[in-house]
Amino acid sequence: MKSSLGIGSVMGIPIKLHITFLLVLPVFVYVFAIYPEPFGFARVEPPLTRYAISALAAILLFVSILLHELAHSYLARRYGVKIESITLFLFGGVSAMDEMPRKPGQEAKMAFAGPLTSLIIGSICLFIYGYLISPNPVLSKNSVFGILWTLGYMNLVLGIFNMLPAFPMDGGRVLRSFYATRMSYVKATQSAASVGKFFAILMAIFGILVGNLWFPLIALFIYVGASEEERSTQAEVALENIRVEDIMTKDVVSVSPSMSVEDLVQFIFQKKHMGYPVMEGDSLKGVVTLTDIERVPYTERSAARVSDIMTRNIVSVPSTARASDALKLISSKNIGRVMVIDNGSLVGILSRTDLVRILRLRSE
Ligand SMILES: [Zn+2]
Repeated sequence: MKSSLGIGSVMGIPIKLHITFLLVLPVFVYVFAIYPEPFGFARVEPPLTRYAISALAAILLFVSILLHELAHSYLARRYGVKIESITLFLFGGVSAMDEMPRKPGQEAKMAFAGPLTSLIIGSICLFIYGYLISPNPVLSKNSVFGILWTLGYMNLVLGIFNMLPAFPMDGGRVLRSFYATRMSYVKATQSAASVGKFFAILMAIFGILVGNLWFPLIALFIYVGASEEERSTQAEVALENIRVEDIMTKDVVSVSPSMSVEDLVQFIFQKKHMGYPVMEGDSLKGVVTLTDIERVPYTERSAARVSDIMTRNIVSVPSTARASDALKLISSKNIGRVMVIDNGSLVGILSRTDLVRILRLRSE
């Protein structure tokens, strides 16, 4: 996601704001400002104070969403899943994980941690408002404390709402793991996403009928989230039944570790591939790519050897691996190609370009 802005990190996890978040924040401030409590602050006067309080409430709402996401991440980590980042966008947050916990029980607990956090935040806010603010005549007149009521209410809604069994809500993950026992993971995701879209449409219609803007706003978030989830699995569908051996490059062009970087540049111009395995006799020593060359200054290219600049950490798959798994590996490691290795010997190379070409052919 390049369309997002890093704002810091919590528990070592980078937190990012998606561009859609910045666009939608003013909409939230506006919606807070036009509805009376507990949906908003329409009765607060003068307008400047009303908008200031609405803005503060919108920011605190997103902080609550961040806490919700952190709860997912905390449990996921305990189950050994690596969390790359958390991105806040539109109405919600998304934790980018290497993979989901495999055991259904763990996935369910991890999915439940978020709504539980929202319910706890909501209860605390409403408790403080109900027992400390509301009975006190001085404090209850101060509209800043009204934020506690609205925020408490919103968090309860967020918590209950996320338990709905539909993607992209957390309950959707539980639904998917249920579906996944009867069909492929990808098809299960699609089914859970369809349920999510159906919910979104119902919710938008309901909101328009009762004349409350919160519903279509949330419905939009659900629809976009469900579509996103579906799209990311479509690539997997296209590659699901293809084996790496069917699409890999078999006649591998390799280079020797003793070749100079200057000669390697000439070699790349002739062969036109962007990356090469480095072979010494029959054994694979590493991988060298155009990016490795770019790090070497021109003046040092005649003296430097391929062995000085190559990557020794070789990322590989067996030829029988699924193409969709190879794509996942390439994306998660952010590399251009994987080596295809059977019984210790190099049998081919599969590049990101090969996969993109297959995806394009499939979609036509
Ligand atoms: Zn969640």
